[in-house]
Amino acid sequence: MAWRSSGATNEALIENLARNGLIKQERVKKAMLGVDRAHYAPYAPYEDSPQAIGHRATISAPHMHAAACESLLPYLHPGARVLDIGSGSGYLTHVLAELVKPGGKVVGVEHIQPLVEMGTGNTRKSAEGLDLMDNGGIRYVKADGRLGWPQDAPYDAIHVGAAAAGFHQALIDQLKAPGRLFMPIEEDHMQHIYVIDKKEDGTVTKTKDMGVRYVPLTDAPTD
Ligand code: SAH
Repeated sequence: MAWRSSGATNEALIENLARNGLIKQERVKKAMLGVDRAHYAPYAPYEDSPQAIGHRATISAPHMHAAACESLLPYLHPGARVLDIGSGSGYLTHVLAELVKPGGKVVGVEHIQPLVEMGTGNTRKSAEGLDLMDNGGIRYVKADGRLGWPQDAPYDAIHVGAAAAGFHQALIDQLKAPGRLFMPIEEDHMQHIYVIDKKEDGTVTKTKDMGVRYVPLTDAPTD
C-alpha cells in the first residue's frame, strides 16, 4: 500500500520503501538516498504517490521509480549508456545517472521544452546533479521519444516514463545486445509494464509485468 512508504524526509521515504520490499537491492537504495526528491517534486516530495508537475505531466510515485531501477539494475554498471524517455521532472534521470557513474551517460528525452528546462533546473539544484550535468553524465534533449535518441545509441538500458501504444521498433533497435527496455504499454484500455530483453545473440523477448497507470506517450501538445 503506497501510503505506508511515505516519510517525513527523503531518508525516511527510501528506508520505508526498502522495509516494504519495494527496494530490494542495496545499489538502488544508495542511489535513491543520494537524490533528494524535494529537488524534483513541487510539493509533498516524500509521499509515495505521483504528483502533478504541470504540462499534464506527473513525477511518478517513488515505488515506480524504484521498480524501474530494480528491473534495469543488471544493465546499470559504471560507464553504461542509458536513455530515459519522458524525463519530466528529471528525478529518475538523475537516479539512473548515479547508478552508472563514473563514466556513464544518461540522456533524458522530453518533448515539451519547459519540461526539458525543468529537468535541467531540478538536476542543477544539488552539487551531485550539477557535477553530472557539467561532466556529461546527464543530458536533457527535446525530441519525440517514440523515435528514441539514435545519436547516442546503442544503450545498455532504456526506460520509458509514459505509456506507449505499442512496442516502438526504434527503441528495440537502439538497445545494446545485451540490453533491457522497461516500458509501460497500453492495450485494451489497460496499461502494463513490459520488460523487453535483447540477448547477446540479438534475440528479443517481451515479458509482461505489473498493471500501472502512466500518462500517455503521445504527439507533443499544440496548445
Ligand atoms: N519519469 C518522469 C515521468 C514524467 S510523466 C518523472 O517521473 O518525472 C511522462 C512524461 O513523458 C511527460 O513529461 C511527457 O511530457 C513525456 N512525454 C509524453 N510523450 C512523449 C514523447 N512522445 N516524447 C517525449 N516525451 C514524452
